[in-house]
Amino acid sequence: MGKRQPAYLPDSRIYSCTTCHSHLLSHQSIVSKAFQGRYGPAYLVSHVVNVTLGTKEERMLLTGMHTVADISCSVCGTRIGWKYLCALEESQKYKESKYIVEKAKIAKEVMWDF
Ligand SMILES: [Zn+2]
Repeated sequence: MGKRQPAYLPDSRIYSCTTCHSHLLSHQSIVSKAFQGRYGPAYLVSHVVNVTLGTKEERMLLTGMHTVADISCSVCGTRIGWKYLCALEESQKYKESKYIVEKAKIAKEVMWDF
């Protein structure tokens, strides 16, 4: 089994995996915090690192039919949300190729400097 070096984000405001503390996204990648995941509040995010894309599937969500794929932390395998691959509704197209990340699965890194 090949061991991959986890990616590190250059931003000082980072959210990491609650299970293994690998970097997942930076604060500036968050598009919206007003989203709902499978387990509760979630963020819409434009860019993530250290994630593995799962199988593509059609999923009926509150906002209509979407083609999505689950995303998991590539280090510990915890499922952290999903990626929007395709949205059927015109009004939902802006979400395509963005990610939903469950708030409960990520934590702020303590290196935040103000
Ligand atoms: Zn992890």
